[in-house]
Amino acid sequence: MDFDLTDAQRMILDYGGKLAQTFDRKQWMDYSHRHEFPRHVWEQMGDDGFLGMMVPEAYGGAGLGMLEMSLLMEGMSDHGIPLQHLIVGPTMCLSHIARHGSEEQKQRYLAPACSGREVWCFAITEPTAGTNSMKITTLAKRSGRPSGAGTFRLNGQKVFITGSDVADYAIVVARTTAFQDAASKSDGFTLFIVDLNAPGVTRRPMDMSILIPERQCELFFVDVELSEADIIGEVDKGFSILFDTLNPERIIIAAMLVGLGRYAIKRAVAYANERQVFDAPIGSYQGLQHPLAEAKTEIEVATLMTYKAAWAFDHDRPAAEYSNMAKYYAAEAAIHAVDTAVQCFGGNAYTREYGIFDLYPFVRMLRTAPLNREMLLNYIGEKVLGLPRSY
Ligand SMILES: Cc1cc2nc3c(=O)[nH]c(=O)nc-3n(C[C@H](O)[C@H](O)[C@H](O)COP(=O)(O)OP(=O)(O)OC[C@H]3O[C@@H](n4cnc5c(N)ncnc54)[C@H](O)[C@@H]3O)c2cc1C
Repeated sequence: MDFDLTDAQRMILDYGGKLAQTFDRKQWMDYSHRHEFPRHVWEQMGDDGFLGMMVPEAYGGAGLGMLEMSLLMEGMSDHGIPLQHLIVGPTMCLSHIARHGSEEQKQRYLAPACSGREVWCFAITEPTAGTNSMKITTLAKRSGRPSGAGTFRLNGQKVFITGSDVADYAIVVARTTAFQDAASKSDGFTLFIVDLNAPGVTRRPMDMSILIPERQCELFFVDVELSEADIIGEVDKGFSILFDTLNPERIIIAAMLVGLGRYAIKRAVAYANERQVFDAPIGSYQGLQHPLAEAKTEIEVATLMTYKAAWAFDHDRPAAEYSNMAKYYAAEAAIHAVDTAVQCFGGNAYTREYGIFDLYPFVRMLRTAPLNREMLLNYIGEKVLGLPRSY
């Protein structure tokens, strides 16, 4: 067993600190207040070679794995700049196309996305299906036209799609066989690459109350023409490919949460050392010191589980157990860390100048999305412990 990072991995973890020298938390917050995508930062990351982390070098990437991807996210979050686009684009879409796309798709899409010049998002959630993705109703129906443009027509709606306001393309999870006609509940799913500027696609930004630069949008599809060349994998057999994105998504979010938790603790410790009330630094009072020490311990424990999950994924070992545990525990640890930091800052926590309370809605949201705490615990209860299913 080896707990050391390699020099390259250390460099990736440290990248967030370098980036924060020109794009710091304050600027990140300015973009968040305007809900504006910091495109120049994205392109900078592309130029620095960090967006194609999980894409083979032959297609413009770095040919690295999930561990390196999560170190990148952890390091950025450590500095309070957790870009959501890293989750939906490079981690979910690009690695997906690299693993399951056709040669034509890899040649066409990967290099511009690795350079940051084309932006991607991932769309599965629907308003009525919610957590139960089996029940999505967005349908891509064969039109009767021979192969080529217009072989399928896509109709339906997605909701909460992060970054879709500025994205060029989405991987859209659709049904090609409706739930009631499918051979099994996991049959009948197909993953399509959808050009978000195509006729029939409408994006409607949602009015969210979390402060991040990325917007969430509703997407509406009305008779969007698609062809076989837009399909990732096989018609009706998308579920197994889809499964492949779930663990990376949980792992990278866990990495983001541990980074943010560590950032909150770092800020709180600096403040608690400096702020004097009753003639002593508030950090000397155990009412603050012990919660900070607890929060720090929880964050470091969550970090280890995140690394283990990423390692298992990279080594083709079963990673679901660790990924679910990492996301569950990292969210709880980060919420506790931010809550503890809020307490340390007293009234200043709620000022824009200090920006500490601003962290709270975001980490709290991550207990619910992308997969809520209850479904993570359901997985652990059923698949790890062998308890009966309740739903
Ligand atoms: C900021 C943000 C960004 C997002 N980005 C994306 C994105 O880019 N792409 C995308 O496709 N989706 C995205 N989502 C959607 C997200 O994945 C869903 O919100 C999430 O899956 C939960 O679905 P829901 O909101 O419909 O909750 P519901 O399904 O209505 O669930 C509500 C609550 O019920 C409980 N619950 C549900 N089922 C069970 C059960 N079986 N057992 C116990 N409890 C249960 C849970 O507590 C859950 O929180 C995003 C959401 C947010 C908030």
